Amino acid sequence: EAKRRGRGQVVRFTPGMREADRQRAQLESDLQSAVERDEFRLHFQPIVNPETLSIFGYEALLRWTHPMRGPVSPAEFIPLAEASGAIGPIGEWVLKDACLKASAWPSDLYVAVNVSALQLRSARFPALVARILAETGLPPQRLTIELTETAIVANHDEVAAILNAVRALGVRVAMDDFGTGFSSLSHLRRLPVDVIKIDRSFVTSAEIDRNSMAVLKGIAQMGRDMEIAIVGEGVETPAQRDILRRIGCDGAQGYLFGKPTPFVLPTTPMLARAV
Ligand code: C2E
Ligand code: MG
Ligand code: MG
Ligand code: MG
Repeated sequence: EAKRRGRGQVVRFTPGMREADRQRAQLESDLQSAVERDEFRLHFQPIVNPETLSIFGYEALLRWTHPMRGPVSPAEFIPLAEASGAIGPIGEWVLKDACLKASAWPSDLYVAVNVSALQLRSARFPALVARILAETGLPPQRLTIELTETAIVANHDEVAAILNAVRALGVRVAMDDFGTGFSSLSHLRRLPVDVIKIDRSFVTSAEIDRNSMAVLKGIAQMGRDMEIAIVGEGVETPAQRDILRRIGCDGAQGYLFGKPTPFVLPTTPMLARAV
């Protein structure tokens, strides 16, 4: 059994590959019932001021415990849920649970929720957000939705209309993993976003790579000029925190300040050590 790919390339299915395909199909099918079976949980990771370490809010990160396989990474199951359409009900569960949990937090904390491009492209998305905010009582100003750069830049007009409807509710929009997509300068000119999250790869390499450092500085300056808040992702070392602080990043997130956990903590572990 062989499959043709691209320019006459022939891919043979080895026994191992067939097993992987079967597993993928099984996971995809199990995802359909995972909401009903209550197999999802949200974890929360703090987003802090890199200068004072005070907490602005938390990003909600989805965790799936499969009944047979145990924990499955979102990097593995989110693409499967997008392919099968299961992302619709899953994304709705995430948004609802995140808003519900955040409504019990201190009122100065926001929650950031990842939204898939597929979910966003439904014309009903702004109405869904409005309904969940009303049901949970979370003020719109305390919700941020995170979208990847590719999701925002593709189908620009259609997406911009939906994002503007969401922003009209008072919800903030963040562009996630910034720097990994292919946004041209013409797109950056009119971004319907309030926050840019710089991808971890730039933060990680800034210490050792002058070009990464230059890109970070440039993004921070662009953020100030466009009145877009800048958050650095994946901060693991004090030196990386110092870099973000020096270039004037508004926010920072990473294992240095706290890993994703099922419950929010009143302070970051780093701040607890410092005081
Ligand atoms: P993301 O939105 O960019 O989330 C940040 C990822 O980086 C998370 O991985 C987080 O655990 C990890 N991270 C945070 N700090 C550090 C650090 O200091 N070092 C390292 N090495 N990693 C760090 P996670 O939880 O595995 O999620 C992976 C991706 O899956 C997310 O990337 C997001 O794109 C997607 N995802 C997660 N939850 C959801 C969800 O509810 N809906 C959708 N549509 N996508 C989700
Ligand atoms: Mg995110
Ligand atoms: Mg990210
Ligand atoms: Mg990411």
